[in-house]
Amino acid sequence: MTFSEQLINWYGQNQRSLPWRNIQDPYRIWLSEIILQQTRVNQGLPYYQRFVERFPKVGDLASASEKEVLALWQGLGYYSRARNLHAAAKIVQKEYGGVFPADYEKIKALPGIGAYTAAAVASFAFNLCHPVIDGNVIRFICRLDGIYEPAQSALCKKTIEKTLYERIDRQNPGVFNQAIMEFGALACTPLNPLCGQGQCPFQSVCHAFEHGAVAHLPVKEKKKPLPVWQLHYMLVLDQDDTLWLHKRGYNDLWRGMYDLPLLPQSPSLEAPPAVCDAEGISFLEHRTQTLSHRRLHFYFYKADAGTFGLRKYLESQKDCLRVKKNLLSEYAFPVSVRRFLEDIHIF
Ligand code: SF4
Repeated sequence: MTFSEQLINWYGQNQRSLPWRNIQDPYRIWLSEIILQQTRVNQGLPYYQRFVERFPKVGDLASASEKEVLALWQGLGYYSRARNLHAAAKIVQKEYGGVFPADYEKIKALPGIGAYTAAAVASFAFNLCHPVIDGNVIRFICRLDGIYEPAQSALCKKTIEKTLYERIDRQNPGVFNQAIMEFGALACTPLNPLCGQGQCPFQSVCHAFEHGAVAHLPVKEKKKPLPVWQLHYMLVLDQDDTLWLHKRGYNDLWRGMYDLPLLPQSPSLEAPPAVCDAEGISFLEHRTQTLSHRRLHFYFYKADAGTFGLRKYLESQKDCLRVKKNLLSEYAFPVSVRRFLEDIHIF
């Protein structure tokens, strides 16, 4: 049996049943791929179902408002994915009449679509011969072939791409791609891969297994320390069951979303920590969140709207607004701010 026959055979017996499998609709395949970037299948599944229900066709997504798309995306993080999803849907609708182009380069030219997603859509939906290379595939092939270049390096990816073009099933590139990703996700896993139980069909030809290098491959590059951002938020409750929100600027990580007003003395994301002991403002708690590219520190304070003209100050800020608590679900929040509001039962 060839490599691809063995792989597809394994896939036939072990694949998970997922709603975006065994379909040819490029819109739904693309949607699932964008949702699953940096997101686990279990976490992404309900989002996929909500998006498909609310926007069954690409034209439905194209004609939605950004506010609605972001609100539906809320909790998944990496909001540029949602904005790009929306922008790409508009292009498909406008330039291709709502029909995804059956062309790798045209798919790759859409916002938010890189080589991996373009190959996934092109092969799953149109059976075009483009190998997918994601983290699962990199791990599997690095171990199988004994590739010791750092996993994220261009050389490693080039080497893997070359071998996949040689190994891909040219009649069934879509199935081959799904099979190799699934094998990396379920069998050649980061910890406790199948070979530990003697069940891997590739064990006899696997470099890492033969050389005792399974735990050392793929080679990871040393990470640089992440930059730190600090945000000092005021929870300002006001009359008539309202609270104050802050609309993020158009130039930042959470543009188009809402959070809480920042302490006047720390208006920017990079502000140094402030110890605020002004009368009427009390410190509530400190939380942290680590993203792939930065570490965030959130300091939450509670402030009385009537304290030293705070209401007046907020009214004078173009990006601050007062909203009814029972309408908060219409606004998209960064996940840490939303969790904080949920934990203190504001949501
Ligand atoms: Fe992966 Fe182990 Fe199979 Fe090698 S033998 S491909 S390391 S599961």
